[in-house]
Amino acid sequence: ETITVQELANRMAERGADLVKALFKMGMPVTMTQSIDQDTAELLVTDFGHNVKRVSDSDVDLQTEVEADPEDTLKPRAPVVTIMGHVDHGKTSLLDALRGTDVVKGESGGITQHIGAYQVTLKDKSKITFLDTPGHEAFTEMRARGANVTDIVVLVVAADDGLMPQTIEAINHTKAAGVPMIVAINKIDKHEANPQRVRERLLEHDVQVEAMGGETQDVEVSALKKTGLDELVEKIQLQAELLELKANPDRAAEGAVVEAKLDKGRGPVATILVGRGTLKVGDVFVVGAESGKVRALVDDKGRQVKEAGPSMPVEVLGLSGVPRAGDQLQVVENEARAREVAEYRQSVLTQKRTTSAPASLESMFSALKDKQAIVYPLVVKADTQGSVEAIVGSINKISTDDIRAHVLHSGVGGITESDVTLAAASGAPIIGFNVRANAKAREIAERNKVALKYYDVIYDLLDEIRAGMAGELGPEA
Ligand code: GDP
Repeated sequence: ETITVQELANRMAERGADLVKALFKMGMPVTMTQSIDQDTAELLVTDFGHNVKRVSDSDVDLQTEVEADPEDTLKPRAPVVTIMGHVDHGKTSLLDALRGTDVVKGESGGITQHIGAYQVTLKDKSKITFLDTPGHEAFTEMRARGANVTDIVVLVVAADDGLMPQTIEAINHTKAAGVPMIVAINKIDKHEANPQRVRERLLEHDVQVEAMGGETQDVEVSALKKTGLDELVEKIQLQAELLELKANPDRAAEGAVVEAKLDKGRGPVATILVGRGTLKVGDVFVVGAESGKVRALVDDKGRQVKEAGPSMPVEVLGLSGVPRAGDQLQVVENEARAREVAEYRQSVLTQKRTTSAPASLESMFSALKDKQAIVYPLVVKADTQGSVEAIVGSINKISTDDIRAHVLHSGVGGITESDVTLAAASGAPIIGFNVRANAKAREIAERNKVALKYYDVIYDLLDEIRAGMAGELGPEA
């Protein structure tokens, strides 16, 4: 009996990132999608101050949702793509241009609706879903809530501007999520365009495109002149084929909130990206700490539809309140049950978490056994490129057989919201050398319990990281 960290987080109404962090402290470096055994799950549940019985009680719990669907029920599904890149490099333009590749667009009579995601149907009838909130903050924030909806990232780099700070952030966020990337070298129509320079600079960030002997696909495009789009779409399809994306369409639906708002005329509205199953009008569901019954489904062309299958984004009407982006939706058998689960989650969300004794050393060490080196994630920001390099270089040398420091992201400048969302999703502290966090970043750090550590002496910084890493190993290590 195993359960994924994400499912457990859903059941406990806790943030997946907090569970990952707790597991990490127990010596189990796992990601949200990995499975843990019953014993570890129970330990975690009590650790978070929940009652084991209550949580595993089928009256409250979404018992059936854990099981993976049998292989023979799985059908191919469309890939879900997020576009990331530096500001002004053409993310929005590219999303608009790609919308134009939809062959059913013209005949549908529908009008483009911005619901947070859209799906295009290609000439060969296959489909691609694009999340149309570009940028890595939304991506990482959703991931922090356990919604790993993106299958493929398209990294947009303007050929005239080259790699910029947010390009590098996007690369690191994508790597941290373990999502494959396709590089779209944009603005190729400009005479200053230098795509080869982009490919070379990418090497410095461990992104090796095919032309440079690597495996990352790249394609030259112009969102403005609409060139290279077919090739980009082909590469997305190729990558999707390699991923063998599948889901069971014939079951109670599950999905993730992409966007949610309170609409004046329609009440609370959420855009749901269906993960598996088929969401239908009349379905009763729980989404985050809200519940509801599907009153209507509206697609990205403003048309009312009766149902939505895997990878399809739809607006859902009929919610009790506004959920958060990244919340999971699950269809349940009746309204009483939906309300019960939602109320339980509400109470957990508002109830202050009881601090409990740390996991027993014994369990910690048994968990440690037959594991490779623990990964100790960090985000590093410093005042100059020289300090960044010196610090990252020294941190990499601290690693031992038991524990390995891993710098998820490093850069020059103050600590930003984006640094914090990345750190939160991976349970990493942020190290600031001669730099501080801005107000917004501090606020998000506090909310997500991300440690911000400031230093002005490299020696002190390394000393504390060493101590922190030793602490993760436990007293006997
Ligand atoms: P975003 O901030 O990444 O979403 O970038 P936008 O899509 O808003 O584009 C920023 C600017 O670059 C706009 O003025 C666009 O018209 C322009 N732009 C985007 N793509 C291209 C392109 O392929 N060629 C040229 N010449 N300009 C482009």
